[in-house]
Amino acid sequence: MLRISEIKLPLDHPAEALPAAIVARLGIAPADLLSWEVARRANDARRKSAILMVYSVDVTLADEAAVLARFAGDNHVRPTPDTGYRFVATAPAGAPRPVVIGAGPCGLFAGLILAQMGFRPIILERGKVVRERTKDTWGLWRRGVLDPESNVQFGEGGAGTFSDGKLYSQIKDPRFLGRKVLTEFVKAGAPEEILTEAHPHIGTFRLVSMVEAMRATIEELGGEYRFGQRVVDFDIRDGRLRGLHLHNGDYLETDHVVLAVGHSSRDTFHALHDRGVHIEAKPFSIGVRIEHPQSWIDRARFGQCAGHPDLGAAAYALSHHCANGRSVYSFCMCPGGRVVAATSEEGRVVTNGMSQYSRKEFNANSGLVVGIDPERDYPGHPLAGIALQRHWEERAFVAGGSSYAAPGQLVGDFLARRPSTALGAVTPSYKPGVHPTDLSLCLPDFAIDALREALPVFGRQIARYDDPDAIMTGVETRTSSPIRITRGKDFQSLNVAGLFPAGEGAGYAGGILSAAVDGIRVAEAVALSLAG
Ligand code: FAD
Repeated sequence: MLRISEIKLPLDHPAEALPAAIVARLGIAPADLLSWEVARRANDARRKSAILMVYSVDVTLADEAAVLARFAGDNHVRPTPDTGYRFVATAPAGAPRPVVIGAGPCGLFAGLILAQMGFRPIILERGKVVRERTKDTWGLWRRGVLDPESNVQFGEGGAGTFSDGKLYSQIKDPRFLGRKVLTEFVKAGAPEEILTEAHPHIGTFRLVSMVEAMRATIEELGGEYRFGQRVVDFDIRDGRLRGLHLHNGDYLETDHVVLAVGHSSRDTFHALHDRGVHIEAKPFSIGVRIEHPQSWIDRARFGQCAGHPDLGAAAYALSHHCANGRSVYSFCMCPGGRVVAATSEEGRVVTNGMSQYSRKEFNANSGLVVGIDPERDYPGHPLAGIALQRHWEERAFVAGGSSYAAPGQLVGDFLARRPSTALGAVTPSYKPGVHPTDLSLCLPDFAIDALREALPVFGRQIARYDDPDAIMTGVETRTSSPIRITRGKDFQSLNVAGLFPAGEGAGYAGGILSAAVDGIRVAEAVALSLAG
């Protein structure tokens, strides 16, 4: 089979145009194209008046060797890569059971791969099963009641469960582990199109049932979930992990642990630091969420083609390097979605975004964040980034009225340096509510300056981006982990054997797909270690 990439057709092309384009591209007779299927589909909207669909297709031809020879040196006509996943080990009889801490995408895939290799992992999760967790999460959004153990960050499915479910990443993936992740998601109920769309997404409701289906698979394979089990301490002796202490006083003896606790498990980070586990501060970003009507973004990106069913709700990615040396960029853009309350700690306000599969809600939202780094912004202690996050999250709580409402400001007021006293034409989606105020109360001056510089620049790239009625809410502080729990080539902690830091919390991923891929890689390392 051959893969032909960069086949471009007009947005409204008929179905038969694609095989015709393949035949023309390869210079073969139509009868020599024995079969074809789409491997990847994207759109190119750089010219709004001539939007293109861009395909990669896998083809079976009458004489593939001859075609390959004719196109030698053409990178867009190559043998189809083998993207199949192969297990690196099989559990020997009587192998000890590894433990996975955390049932987010990283822990879920670590658990799944270990179970598929026969290792019968034990998965410890501080939160609840996903259905119960959903109720608790809505409890904050609807009633302003936070459960610190069951919320947007904590519980089955991890941080990405109530999200846009974007499933793409910039990671290097020479072994096509991302394909394994997407294939497992499809088995668990995700739409098949995620295997071919260039920018696949799932949305919240489907993620919930997929997470349940994957739990059932892991349990059928002999794995075991233990919910409401928070790891509070680590038994480390002679440079080796010996066991875990749980919040209820239980002790679990184990010397192979995947640590997949996500970026918000601050108590766990402190426990690890107290036990001397090697931790470094790492850069992350802080800022706000910005909302516009989705129709403005569709119009700006797709022109007359806005609303075309093959394009869906438009997304964007923006970045600007500021005069003060800071970079501002859009983060976790959610087309047709809503801004959500994403704190896991009492007395703090954090924003993030989510959407449903249909992406049909009224507003587009995106994080608009400013890069910060330990040397300049939180020097001196590996956990200083956490203190900085907490500081600004507390300021946001107070600026929002101390009720979990988010502080908000109209872009026009923000640029004019005056507090907002009322909302404008754009209705913010954040629940339990938005309190108009001055966002400079809850972000450092350099971040406010950088956002003020970037907004008009972005307004020149996307019409009405800096419209006076666009609304910003804050604060966006959980963009990625503020720490790295450094690991060696064997995927184990630099100074604690048997502890395998993984996923976003350990600083090795930055999204659902990359966390899941990291979970696979770490599971393989655990399996190889256990299999001797
Ligand atoms: P997490 O998903 O954070 O999972 C960690 C798990 O560990 C949690 O379930 C937690 O309860 C558990 N845990 C923590 N500490 C302990 C302990 N001590 N004992 C037992 N259990 C513990 N990414 C995307 O790619 N696309 C998106 O569209 C997207 N949207 C997002 C929207 C929102 C609202 C949020 C909050 C995040 C979003 N993300 C998105 C980011 C994505 O969710 C994370 O990058 C990803 O979930 C990280 O996976 P993880 O498994 O490393 O950690």
